[in-house]
Amino acid sequence: MRYAILADIHGNLDALNAVLKDIECRGGVDQYWCLGDIVGYGPEPHLCMEVLRQLPHLAIKGNHDMAAVGEVGLSAFNPDAAQALLWTREKLSDEDISYLIGLPQKLQKESFTIVHGSPREPIWEYLVSISSARENFSYLETPSCLLGHSHLPLLFKQKEDGSGCSFIPFKEGIGQILGKGRFIINPGSVGQPRDGDPRASYAIYDSQAVIKLYRVPYDINAVQLKIVRKNLPVRLSVRLEHGV
Ligand code: ZN
Repeated sequence: MRYAILADIHGNLDALNAVLKDIECRGGVDQYWCLGDIVGYGPEPHLCMEVLRQLPHLAIKGNHDMAAVGEVGLSAFNPDAAQALLWTREKLSDEDISYLIGLPQKLQKESFTIVHGSPREPIWEYLVSISSARENFSYLETPSCLLGHSHLPLLFKQKEDGSGCSFIPFKEGIGQILGKGRFIINPGSVGQPRDGDPRASYAIYDSQAVIKLYRVPYDINAVQLKIVRKNLPVRLSVRLEHGV
C-alpha cells in the first residue's frame, strides 16, 4: 500500500492540483491522508474540499478548519488569518461545513497516530523542537505520529529503548526507512510552505516502511492574483512566493 501525506492545504487549489498530478506521475497511491487545515488563508477553500472529497482519503481537523465553521473563535489567530477565516466562512457550502465538523481530532492508521498539532494537544501545539518531540512521544499510543500545523518538513526519531530523541533532516527525494525506533513526522505544507522553499510540500509513505518527501513547483502568481482579486489580505499573497 502507498499513502500520500498531505498537510495544511489551506485553500490553495493550484498547489493541491500540482501535488495530485505529481503523485499520479509517481505511480499514484492507494489512499490520501490529510493532516488538517484544508481551508483558511487561501482563495479556493470550497474547491479544495470538493477535490479532497473525491479522493479515497481520511482526514482530521486543524485549527483553521475549526475556526472556519465556528467551532473555535478567531481571537487566537493573527489579523490576516482571522480576516481570511471570516471570508472562508462565507464561501463554504453546507456540505463543506458538515464535513469539517464531522472530522475527528485524532486518528490511528497503520503504525501512526494522525493529528494536526501534536499527540499532547492535537489542534494547537506547534511541534518544532527536539524537547517538545521528546515530551510528545510519551503521549503516543502508536509507534509513530504524522502531524502538520507548523508548515515545516520535520522528522524526529526516538530510539527503540526510548533513551534518546534526535532530529533527522527530512530532505526532498531521500527515502527515510521507518524501521527500528519511533518517529514524529511533518510532511510540510501543500498550500503555504514556511521553510523558505515556496514549492508545495508533501510525502509518500509505503508499506516497505519508507517515507519520502517531495517538493512541487506550481503557479504561485496565479494564486496571488486570486488572493488579491478576492480582497484577501495582500500579505497572504506575498508570503507564498517567499515560502514563509
Ligand atoms: Zn496550517
